[in-house]
Amino acid sequence: MATTERFDFSAFDNGVGNSGFEFAHGPGVDLRPQLPETTPDLIGVDLTHRIDVADVAFAAAAGGGSGKPGGGGGGGFSFSPYTTTASAYNITIEFKGGNWTQDLHDVFVGAADRLANLIVGDVQNVNVIMKGGPRLVDDILVIAELKNIDGAGGILGQAGPTSVRTGSYLPATASMQFDIADAANFFAQGLFDEIVGHEMIHSVGFGTIWSYLGLVSGTNFVGAKATAEYNALLDNGSAAGVPLETGGGSGTAGSHWSETIFEHELMTGYIDAAPDPLSRMTVASLQDLGYQVNYSGPIDGYALA
Ligand SMILES: [Zn+2]
Repeated sequence: MATTERFDFSAFDNGVGNSGFEFAHGPGVDLRPQLPETTPDLIGVDLTHRIDVADVAFAAAAGGGSGKPGGGGGGGFSFSPYTTTASAYNITIEFKGGNWTQDLHDVFVGAADRLANLIVGDVQNVNVIMKGGPRLVDDILVIAELKNIDGAGGILGQAGPTSVRTGSYLPATASMQFDIADAANFFAQGLFDEIVGHEMIHSVGFGTIWSYLGLVSGTNFVGAKATAEYNALLDNGSAAGVPLETGGGSGTAGSHWSETIFEHELMTGYIDAAPDPLSRMTVASLQDLGYQVNYSGPIDGYALA
């Protein structure tokens, strides 16, 4: 039985007032991140996508989640920033606000640690002028926030880069915001770690900076490393690129692997019942972005159905 659920969804209307987003959730709720100022080394962008997961909750409940205990929302805890030390690529997560639980905090730490074992090379430091003053970023700063948005269902949140470096276009800052009620529900279903992992990979550039780097042709991702991994999955295939999702809204189509072809893989546009493996192909796509990656890192076994 198909267990696909909508994962991340309508596009954030980048840079032109986010009117689609405002329209979607009505007035009075503004999730737009504080964009860093553009400087000679940095471009303030808004590549965050809204994540709207009413359908995920129903489908996941029907399919039976893995049932991790605990993790209620609105725990009322604050946490200090966390910086990965697994490799020369450092991910700093700033936990905004005082709505955290230990469990939800730990999901972000776990996702960052995993990613820092896959992306392992240093990226140029950059000064980011943000509200509150300049920050030296080495290598990416992720502002994570749990907030009351619209209760269970509806909007899950939004995530993605909020600034990229000039030249390389590798993100320097990102925003990951989630509705407290939904985060708790997905944690209880054993899916929040997959959601956070997926969104953190978007935050370092998957599907969000591809157009800057000329890595999409038609409906294919044409980075050489990921394409080679796809051809390996095809058992010595000769595809010119990795097929991308063509369905869903503009935040889903074109910025994920094809759900039809890759189904359970973590970076399709729809989350499936766990497990959702993170494949060598996804890691290879990060190499295509310009990152130094580690193929001995925590990569899941994956084969085409
Ligand atoms: Zn996504």
